[in-house]
Amino acid sequence: LINVRKNLFEITPYAPGKPISDVKREFGLTDVTKLASNENPLGPSKRAQQAILEALQEVNRYPDGGAVLLKEALSDAVGIPTQQILIGNGSDDLIKLTSETFLNPGDEIVVPSPSFSQYWFGAKLMDAKTVAVPLTSNFEYDLDAMLAAVTTKTKILFLCSPNNPTGTYIREEALQRFLDLVPSHVLVILDEAYNEYVTEADYAQGIDFLKRGYNVLVMRTFSKMYGLAGLRLGYVFGPMEVLDAINRAREPFNANMLAQVGAVAALTDLEHVEASRIQNRAGFDQLQSGLSKLGYTVVPSQGNFLIFDTGLDDRALFDALLREGVIVRGGTALGIPGYLRVSIGLAEENERFLGAFEKVVSSIG
Ligand code: PMP
Repeated sequence: LINVRKNLFEITPYAPGKPISDVKREFGLTDVTKLASNENPLGPSKRAQQAILEALQEVNRYPDGGAVLLKEALSDAVGIPTQQILIGNGSDDLIKLTSETFLNPGDEIVVPSPSFSQYWFGAKLMDAKTVAVPLTSNFEYDLDAMLAAVTTKTKILFLCSPNNPTGTYIREEALQRFLDLVPSHVLVILDEAYNEYVTEADYAQGIDFLKRGYNVLVMRTFSKMYGLAGLRLGYVFGPMEVLDAINRAREPFNANMLAQVGAVAALTDLEHVEASRIQNRAGFDQLQSGLSKLGYTVVPSQGNFLIFDTGLDDRALFDALLREGVIVRGGTALGIPGYLRVSIGLAEENERFLGAFEKVVSSIG
């Protein structure tokens, strides 16, 4: 143990949403609703499932380490050359790879706060420093403050839009201004894990800026709208030289065969995507109006989740909801004490959450 790098002891392993099986066992429940990990409640596309079943017969073979077919499918879908695409074992993998590629001990990254914790993890792993810049009081980006946080040591600046856990997003004009002002030694990474859920027209699409020559990485995933979280597949669009560098740190077979095959099929299943988007908007409206009737104000969200201020101890609420068989995320662990983050589920799941929440609030408040 004596030779373990010191910074590793400052890392607490990621605490994901509690698994359904744990809650069933712990509370002796048979029916548990999980609205904790921003998954697609409609499940994976049928087309993806079929393709995965067929590919099962070939898992004695290694996957295509270069993910050629998937890159071609993504290239066709968005109009970016395959050399500007890299595939990861989830976007978690790509965040880690990018950190390993660019960060030396003592370097800095700039991140919004609250936001996704893996940016901090990548930096910590490399012994780099995370400079966290708070969102405004209504959870909007303070891009000027993020610019002001950049120093000569800043290597990477992360933006997450829509932002997890707040659901707020960056507008086109704001990103344009920001990218024009950010110093050229800083690599800007736009994490667009929830991109497919966005319905607002002024949302800044990172890929448009990449196409116009900006030095920006755009990360996306098949874990959310495409419903393939369990298979682990993320991808990133970026300038060729930057991806060439990251590719050198990549494991040879970091994206597995079933994930690649499932992703190619899922990309063609536009009906599933559209159904998921519609279901998500309806679910948001349902949760918002249900919570509003109980006296709570939801933060407008462009993701497949929402947050709201409970005015109570979120940890106590989280525990009480677990006993009712409903798993959500407590705000304390996400950097927003008192808030709950609820993933948008099917109508009956949202209803169950609303009922359970109304019940437990009276016992805690
Ligand atoms: N970025 C954000 C903003 C996320 O919320 C998540 C999932 N929690 C990820 C990246 C990681 O996604 P993946 O499953 O592709 O690793």
